[in-house]
Amino acid sequence: MKRKNLVILGATGSIGDSTLKVVRGNPERLNVVGIAGKKNYEKLAKIADEFNVGHVAIFDGAAFDEAKASGLFKNRRLYRGEEGLEEISLLPEADTLVAAVVGTQALKPTLAAIRAGKDIALANKELLVMAGKFVMAGARENNVAILPLDSEHNAIFQCLNGERARNVAKLIITASGGMFRDYTREQMLSITPEQALKHPNWKMGPKVTIDSSTLANKGLEVIEAKWLFGVEPERIQVVVQRQSLVHSMVQFVDGSVLAHLSPPSMTFAISHSLLYPERGACVCEPLDFSKAISIDFAPPDTGRFPCLRHAFDALKAGGTATAVFNAANEVAVSRFIAGKLPWIKIADVVGKTLEAVDAKDPQTLDDILDDDALARARAAEIAEAAAR
Ligand code: MG
Repeated sequence: MKRKNLVILGATGSIGDSTLKVVRGNPERLNVVGIAGKKNYEKLAKIADEFNVGHVAIFDGAAFDEAKASGLFKNRRLYRGEEGLEEISLLPEADTLVAAVVGTQALKPTLAAIRAGKDIALANKELLVMAGKFVMAGARENNVAILPLDSEHNAIFQCLNGERARNVAKLIITASGGMFRDYTREQMLSITPEQALKHPNWKMGPKVTIDSSTLANKGLEVIEAKWLFGVEPERIQVVVQRQSLVHSMVQFVDGSVLAHLSPPSMTFAISHSLLYPERGACVCEPLDFSKAISIDFAPPDTGRFPCLRHAFDALKAGGTATAVFNAANEVAVSRFIAGKLPWIKIADVVGKTLEAVDAKDPQTLDDILDDDALARARAAEIAEAAAR
């Protein structure tokens, strides 16, 4: 197998860390040619030195200027802003783009990389949730593979391997249930950002951790699963698996269920996706069956966690509704983190914004970005009123 050249957007985040761990463990198979981060240029410089990366993009303008003046990037080419992200995504030597930045700034670079025929290792949620129609159509037209890095979608990808689509009955996406899975509604009234930023099983960035606590993250993953695997929302089910050892399952028409298991570390999914159809060296402790292991399953409670229900509603409505769901949730979460919205109102803001914005079938990326902006404005008003 030829060494795969990677460009990593979001190299300084938690998916970036796990990706680099996998590269470190498989140096004869994986190579990093470009990295991008938001503003932590000192960490980018360290990564560039360790992996001998020639191309470094920095999203934030001020951080880019500081990086340039720092002298930390001798013999490396620096790229600035969104155009910089796009430029390194299109490096001729790159085979695969690891899209691991949070937010909408990954949209244009990734769509450009798809048109340029690069495979996409996908961790960014917004790409499929907002622009699934264009991402999947672009992938088909350019014969590009979309390799899911998220543990749930990678698990489904592994379970579906070699199976016929017509034999798939259901995709079953597991959820840890988040920090507040055992909270009563009463207890939910006084949740603080500090509490919500702790996850029982996974170490992840702040936005994803809060989204796990409301199950909005699971909602986003349901939407992504629809696009990745072409399965309608009626055939996607969510189940709480509190130990985070079963990462998702597929139920077939004959009633058989296949599951994927590993400890809760992103390295397993990343390693599989980047090295598929090969398998690489294990870079994390694997499951040890010489000790007792318990695995529980339970249905989610959408009464206490309405964000999950709103995600299914948005997916059934189709078009830009899932972009509206995402935008409203982002606004609500950032207000919660800033102490301006109670945790329990996050779902209200999402639900009311979905009602307030008329979704449409997008013809261009701009149609999506328009509804994204509209939803953000409406969600901000709704959140303002809800906090009073
Ligand atoms: Mg996940």
